[in-house]
Amino acid sequence: MSKLVIRNIGLLLSGKMEKPILDADCIIAVDGKIVAIGKAADMDLSGAETVVDAKGVTLAPGLIDSHIHPVIGDYTPRQQQLSWIDSTLNGGVTTMISAGEVHLPGRPKDIVGLKALAIASQRWYENFRPSGVKVHAGAPVIEQGLEEHDFKEMADAGVKLLGEVGLGTVKDGPTAKKMVDWARKYGMQSTIHTGGPSIPGSGLIDADVVLEAGTDVIGHINGGHSALPDDQIVCLCESCQAGLEIVHNGNERAALLTLNTARELKQLDRVILGTDGPAGSGVQPLGILRMIAMLSSLGNVPAEIAFCFGTGNTARQRELDVGLIEEGYCADFVLMDQAQHAPGKTILESVELGNLPGVGMTIIDGKVTSRRSRNTPPAGDIPLIEGE
Ligand SMILES: [Zn+2]
Repeated sequence: MSKLVIRNIGLLLSGKMEKPILDADCIIAVDGKIVAIGKAADMDLSGAETVVDAKGVTLAPGLIDSHIHPVIGDYTPRQQQLSWIDSTLNGGVTTMISAGEVHLPGRPKDIVGLKALAIASQRWYENFRPSGVKVHAGAPVIEQGLEEHDFKEMADAGVKLLGEVGLGTVKDGPTAKKMVDWARKYGMQSTIHTGGPSIPGSGLIDADVVLEAGTDVIGHINGGHSALPDDQIVCLCESCQAGLEIVHNGNERAALLTLNTARELKQLDRVILGTDGPAGSGVQPLGILRMIAMLSSLGNVPAEIAFCFGTGNTARQRELDVGLIEEGYCADFVLMDQAQHAPGKTILESVELGNLPGVGMTIIDGKVTSRRSRNTPPAGDIPLIEGE
């Protein structure tokens, strides 16, 4: 039995829209799962293998990037860059979800080839976590010619996601709907490219196609990069219940339009965040923190709610066992403090003024995976491991 105690937490963010701040200063995890949340004075802290003294900083669930394009290991051919996932861990992200392994040079588009790639991608990220980060990959891009048995075959082999509909040869609503329904029948979640073409070779997917396809998530509703016209974005928010995914590699004005529309509909729980990296705009190690600060500051969202967009909302939409501070959930955390010399009286006020927090530590499955971030502005206070 491996026990982790994190005590002296100054502010505990839950990832839950309905109660974003918890009245607690201590978390206990056993064998990588949260078993208790409360006041240290009332808890049994004995027998811990690791005790983290949070030094009064803020703890949140590890951030989730709902939209990445990994290829293999911690390398991306799109920007010929190594260690981009490790860099992102330093931005507080502990879970990433593939929207398709589309940057693989020579990506197979024939049916047997795309199935093989999906299964292989699922396996190599299941077998290898770059710097400890959980990468959910194996997200095939649907092509003309796929039949129902192909979806069953992939699902039986462990494939749980569809990559962005529209990045392959299926760009029409009726064919997309047929295949998305097959995927759903066999337990695969789906997303769709929304907006204008991202890079040469991709195409336009407008609101009519998105609504007809009926994917679980409206992938980058704010474009990746070119957004749909405003009336189509509003229509998408109003006309379905799918996840509203806002990405860093998109149009920031369209992101705010989505946020404001979701708020008017009283459906902010549909808002989830991604980077869409690696992309033409590069890799974005601080992308999720930057989206949280941007939406909080320019969108007038309390910072503790903006953190839910990048944690609990995504976990619930994606049915993951991370992203919420709750007994039974994975002990995946980010510990942060107000960045040195950043304005604002508290970390939350600082974020609401548009500043990034400083990351001091990440923890995945109850194990410390990084210390003072090499990428964020330096945190004021930094958690310590007792006995070091
Ligand atoms: Zn896209």
